[in-house]
Amino acid sequence: ENIHIQENIIITTNGREIESCNQAFMKFFEISSLNEFLFEFNSIKELFIKKDTYFYFDEIKYRNQTWVSHVYENLNGKCTVCMTNLKGSNEKVFKITVNLLESKKDYYVVSLNDITDVLEQTTKLKKIANYDSLTGIYNRKRFDELFEQTVINFSNNQLETSIIMFDIDNFKRINDTYSHQIGDEVLKELVTIVGKHIRKSDLFVRWGGEEFLLVLANTNLESAQRVSEKFRALIETMESSIEEAVTCSFGVTMFDKEDTLSQLIARADEAMYQSKSAGRNRVSALLRSE
Ligand code: GH3
Ligand code: MG
Ligand code: MG
Repeated sequence: ENIHIQENIIITTNGREIESCNQAFMKFFEISSLNEFLFEFNSIKELFIKKDTYFYFDEIKYRNQTWVSHVYENLNGKCTVCMTNLKGSNEKVFKITVNLLESKKDYYVVSLNDITDVLEQTTKLKKIANYDSLTGIYNRKRFDELFEQTVINFSNNQLETSIIMFDIDNFKRINDTYSHQIGDEVLKELVTIVGKHIRKSDLFVRWGGEEFLLVLANTNLESAQRVSEKFRALIETMESSIEEAVTCSFGVTMFDKEDTLSQLIARADEAMYQSKSAGRNRVSALLRSE
């Protein structure tokens, strides 16, 4: 779990061929001299991996530049690459800084800082901050951020967005009857089955303890009601850790461009409570009234 502070890999180059390197370079490539490297390669760019948004040098596109001069002149001397060792058995992410030594023309110092561990830690922390730890779906905080990016954005593009809020019926009794641990299992089972049946563009959020939110992109109220009915039946008939059927009450509403987030949620909540008071295990829908 501890992040090792690693020495930067440093090379000097005219852009085409490496002229000198430090120990960290040899350590990463598992070689004992620069010649061992130069025997097979001229440049470290041959070991860059083309993936994600990492920098990759396209020879054909930049015919009159080397990768080093390109980074120096066009990218402010900075880029991030994914690079393997010679065997291709070890991929690391490096932040690269290119400096030109004023005294000599085409004499660059390239420094590579291994940020693989830092990136991993950041990803872990983001996961903790944005996802619910029990079920793995989005938490409420993340939904607040996504609301702007999705719901508002869809609406600006004339797309209808619907919201489904649902809450497990009599969950307190389930906990009391079978234990809190079994209750946790039921929550996970429910999330798994619902998660399997949503579209890629839908957002699935753990809103509260046993309360969930689905945001359906490009879906009107009628379709959202149909989707809710499908999920209601799916949950009622799912295999779970308890002997009785798990049921949920659903509230459906559609986003109106006049809606604030809290108005939208309040309306979904109101619809859901209509389902609760009408006897649970059912779907109710509400539109914004003028
Ligand atoms: P209703 O049909 O009206 O929704 O009744 P209910 O019993 O489901 O509603 P209530 O709000 O009274 O109880 C919710 C229960 O959910 C109480 C709480 O202990 C339980 N709960 C909340 N979060 C978790 C959790 O993460 N795990 C487990 N096992 N139980 C949880
Ligand atoms: Mg409940
Ligand atoms: Mg509840």
